[in-house]
Amino acid sequence: MPSVSSAASSPLSNRHDLQLRQRAAKVVPGGMTGHLNAASLPAGYPQFFERGQGCRVWDVDGNEYIDFMCSWGPNLLGHHHPVVDEAARKQQALGDCLDGPTARFVELAERFVARSAHADWVLFQKNGTDATTVCLMVARAATGKRKVLVATKAYHGADPWCTPIPQGITPEDRAHLIHYTYNDITSLEAAVAQAGTDLAAIVCAAFKHDLGIDQELPTPAFARRARELCDQAGAALILDEVRAGFRVHAGGSWETVGVRPDLSAWSKSIANGYALAAVTGVDALREAATRIYTTGSFWSGGVAMAAGLATIEVADAQDVVGHVQAMGQRFRDGIAAQSASHGVPVRQTGPAALPLILFHEDPGFDKGAVFTVEALRRGVYLHPKHNMFLSLAHTVQDIDLALQATDAAFAAVAQRFGHR
Ligand code: PMP
Repeated sequence: MPSVSSAASSPLSNRHDLQLRQRAAKVVPGGMTGHLNAASLPAGYPQFFERGQGCRVWDVDGNEYIDFMCSWGPNLLGHHHPVVDEAARKQQALGDCLDGPTARFVELAERFVARSAHADWVLFQKNGTDATTVCLMVARAATGKRKVLVATKAYHGADPWCTPIPQGITPEDRAHLIHYTYNDITSLEAAVAQAGTDLAAIVCAAFKHDLGIDQELPTPAFARRARELCDQAGAALILDEVRAGFRVHAGGSWETVGVRPDLSAWSKSIANGYALAAVTGVDALREAATRIYTTGSFWSGGVAMAAGLATIEVADAQDVVGHVQAMGQRFRDGIAAQSASHGVPVRQTGPAALPLILFHEDPGFDKGAVFTVEALRRGVYLHPKHNMFLSLAHTVQDIDLALQATDAAFAAVAQRFGHR
C-alpha cells in the first residue's frame, strides 16, 4: 500500500532508475524519446517501470503508486485486466502475426461499426499517429484537395505533418496546414476562407487538451459550425479521439454535442494497453478509403484485436464511461475542497475522467511540480501539466487514498509558496 502520511516527505529510492538512465543515455539518443522522457517531469519522477496491476504501477525501484496516467491513456480498464489478458493469451497461443489477419479483424471491425455512432467502416493501424495520418489521406483522396485545418497547439501525433517539435522535417511537410483556434468560430471561418476551394478536411480534437493550458470541452455551436463548414465545402470533418475515445462517450465524444464526424481516429484505450489504432468513417468516404495504400507489418496482429474485442465487451458491460466520470468527479471534488481549505487556488478543467489540475499564478509550473512530487513521494502518480486518466480499476478507496496524499501535497505548496 502506498504511504499517505502527511508528515514531511523524503525522496524515493531511485538507484535502479538512475542506473538504467545512465545505460540508456549511452545506447539511446537522449536516453529516451518523446513524452516518456522523464526529463520533462519534475526531478524525482521515475522513468522506468517494473509492472502494473489494476490502478497501481511499480517503478524499477519497487516504489508503488496509484496511477493517474494509465500509461498516458491506454489502460482504460486497469493494468492486466483479467478478461482482456485472457483473450490476448488465447489468441497468442493460436497466433498473432500471421500471413494475414485472423477472424478477430472482422469481428472487431463489426463491433466498431455497431458501436461508433457515425461509423460505416473501419481501418486498423497500431498508433494514434497512424490513425490521424490515415484520416488525412482518406480526406485528401476523397476530395482531391490539399488544405487541412488544425487547431493551434493541438497534438495529433509525431509524424512530420504534426510533430510539435519541428526538427528533422521540412516546411513542405506542413505546407497545406492552416491553423484555427479551438472553439473559436470566427477563426475557423477565417481558416476555411483561407483554404478557398482547396479544403480537404477540418481536424478537431474530441476536446481541447493541449499541454499545460486549461482544457475546454467543445461548444455545441463550434462543433455544429465545423460540421456545416465541411458540408458546404464537401470537406471531411475529422475527430481525433485518440486521447478521449472510450472515456467521454461510448459512441464517440461528439455525441455529447450532437455532431457526427466523417472520420474518427482512435487508439490508446481501445485495446486496454495492447497496440492498436483504428480509423472509422462514413459510407461517403468508403471508396476513397479503398483507394489509399496504407498498411503495416503488425497492423492486423490478432492479439491486439482479441484484446480490443474483450476491452469493448468489458467497457460496455461495466459502463466504463460512467465509472471513470464518477471517479474523476470524486477526485475533482476532493481537490477543489483541499484547494479551498489550504488557500491554494487551482483550475480543474475538461472532462472529470481526464482531469487536469493547474495552479493559479504558476507560469513555470513550479507549484505543480512541488504538488506532484509531494504526491509522488506519498504513492500517487500525477502529472503537473498534462491531462490525467481514470480507469475502471480506480475505486472509491483508491481515490480517497490519493486524496490523503494530495492534501499533504497542497500543504507543501502552501508552505513553500504561501496561501490566500
Ligand atoms: N492524437 C492525440 C489527441 C493524442 O493524444 C496522441 C497521443 N498522445 C496522438 C494523436 C498520437 O498517438 P500515438 O502516440 O499513439 O501515435
